[in-house]
Amino acid sequence: MLQTVESLSRWFLKIQRNLPWRMTSDPYKIWISEVMLQQTQVTTVIPYYERFIRAFPDIKSLALAEEESVLQLWAGLGYYSRARNLHRGAQTLMKRFPFQFPQTRRELLEIPGIGPYTAGAILSIAFDLKEPLVDGNVERVLSRYFAFKHPIDSSHAKNFFWQKAQEWVLMSRSPRVFNQALMELGSLICTKSHPKCSLCPIQDSCEALKQNLTNDLPKKTKKPKPKEIHQIKFIFEKSGKFWIKKNTEGEWWSGLWDFPSIELPATTSSPQQIAKLIEQYTPTSWKELPHQKHTVTHHRLFVVPIHIKVTRAPSIEGQWTPLHQIKELPVSALVKRIINHNF
Ligand code: SF4
Repeated sequence: MLQTVESLSRWFLKIQRNLPWRMTSDPYKIWISEVMLQQTQVTTVIPYYERFIRAFPDIKSLALAEEESVLQLWAGLGYYSRARNLHRGAQTLMKRFPFQFPQTRRELLEIPGIGPYTAGAILSIAFDLKEPLVDGNVERVLSRYFAFKHPIDSSHAKNFFWQKAQEWVLMSRSPRVFNQALMELGSLICTKSHPKCSLCPIQDSCEALKQNLTNDLPKKTKKPKPKEIHQIKFIFEKSGKFWIKKNTEGEWWSGLWDFPSIELPATTSSPQQIAKLIEQYTPTSWKELPHQKHTVTHHRLFVVPIHIKVTRAPSIEGQWTPLHQIKELPVSALVKRIINHNF
């Protein structure tokens, strides 16, 4: 096992990618990068990370920022609760630990948005402490390496992975190097499909490779199909201004600006039914814009955007805003796409 840990660490030191968050051991910057990297590709994260760190170079600047400016820098990255939690987390850090970034798992887990994975990442990467971490990449590597044949989303599996990750990190000379090596292996070599086993630094002792199971593992319990939602977005325009509203808690994309929408049963979206809905706003003209599909946490959205020219404000919540100002506000990737493609 020691040999596996050392081979993996040596391999990482040779091949590691030059990523902006790897140039620092500042726990704040590592925290930001780790949160951005959850559910998001490295290449997507780089420009967001650079902009975010330029705007909020330290905990204090993030804690004192308006939530709207934080969301604006996050707009398009998705999973906006991550941004809101970072903001709240920075405020908690300022209050509870004003002089030093906490260096224990127990303290870190008290901060909003920091879970066991992020705590492990901060402690090992920033402080080089022997603390384990397990994310999707690590689960995949470990399930294959040990030929773990049970579904990986069970609590039995979680305990198994955390235990192995801990055993390995305790053997490592540098937890900072080792934990990153483990994740990098999952991201570059031990990939979801077609793992590149011939390039893998731990292929000699990998059980999945020995048992010819690399394409069968990890095992997952079947996820239910995403729920389909059909939505109409009303894009009211009057003299070059658009009617927008800020989404409130409990709505999709809360805290972001949006065009008013209504949900429809799939069967109600026939052209006649849509026309009837629009007539109540007495438009001077209207047209259907290209339909949009969007996936958001277990839901598949089918969106019909409708551009409606009117002479007075619609009787729904909102405010008239010129397009150039909307472009400065935090909006979802979906709204950004509708604007960029049509206006
Ligand atoms: S040998 Fe293949 S399956 Fe095993 S850890 Fe390496 S890349 Fe993954």
